[in-house]
Amino acid sequence: MNNHDYRLARERMVRTQLIPRGIKDKGVLAAMEKIPRHRFVEEALVGEAYNDHPLPIGHKQTISQPYIVALMTEALELTGREKTLEIGTGSGYQTAILAELSGKVCTVERIRALMLQARKILAELGYTNILFKAFDGTLGWEEHAPYDAIIVTAGAPKIPEPLIEQLAERGRLVIPTGNRFSQELIKITKIKGKLVQKSLGGCRFVNLVGIHGWKD
Ligand code: SAH
Repeated sequence: MNNHDYRLARERMVRTQLIPRGIKDKGVLAAMEKIPRHRFVEEALVGEAYNDHPLPIGHKQTISQPYIVALMTEALELTGREKTLEIGTGSGYQTAILAELSGKVCTVERIRALMLQARKILAELGYTNILFKAFDGTLGWEEHAPYDAIIVTAGAPKIPEPLIEQLAERGRLVIPTGNRFSQELIKITKIKGKLVQKSLGGCRFVNLVGIHGWKD
């Protein structure tokens, strides 16, 4: 596949996987049409990068299905000015989408090797508005709080308390919660200090491992 083929594959992904399932946010659709998802998967899997499913990225982790990335990002209601926190950098693909659509992205990954690989690719792609940390993201990233948007891309037993504390007034938090094998995607909005909760449907993520997550 050459760059032209990849561009066609991205257009097809948006047209057949995202729009028919109800993704409407123009920014999200444009970012997903632009970002070279194949750069975030290993060489042997580049041919599958735009398919309608997650893929392994090593260390028993996965890059999320494109539709789930779109659904979660749309729910964050980004306008380009936000300070955004991402827990679970993984491949860095979701990070790139966030970097396109918010002002600044703080991303936390517990597996250092994944963080380093994501940081390398995102630098190669020219992103300069991302801060990286190899750490337990169930504790958030206090130093840069509060955040206008928080996204957790691993499944949690419950919403980690530090993330609620680090969410700004009117901020949006999207997180899968449930058991180790299946979860519900939850959107929380903080309004006058109170939490308004909405369900975005069922999903299946790798485990969020940490102090306020699952034990390893
Ligand atoms: N958005 C990523 C998803 C990767 S899978 C992508 O599409 O590539 C989820 C990631 O969350 C894994 O890389 C896993 O190591 C990481 N993770 C799990 N628990 C974590 C924690 N407590 N803090 C930070 N990262 C965590």
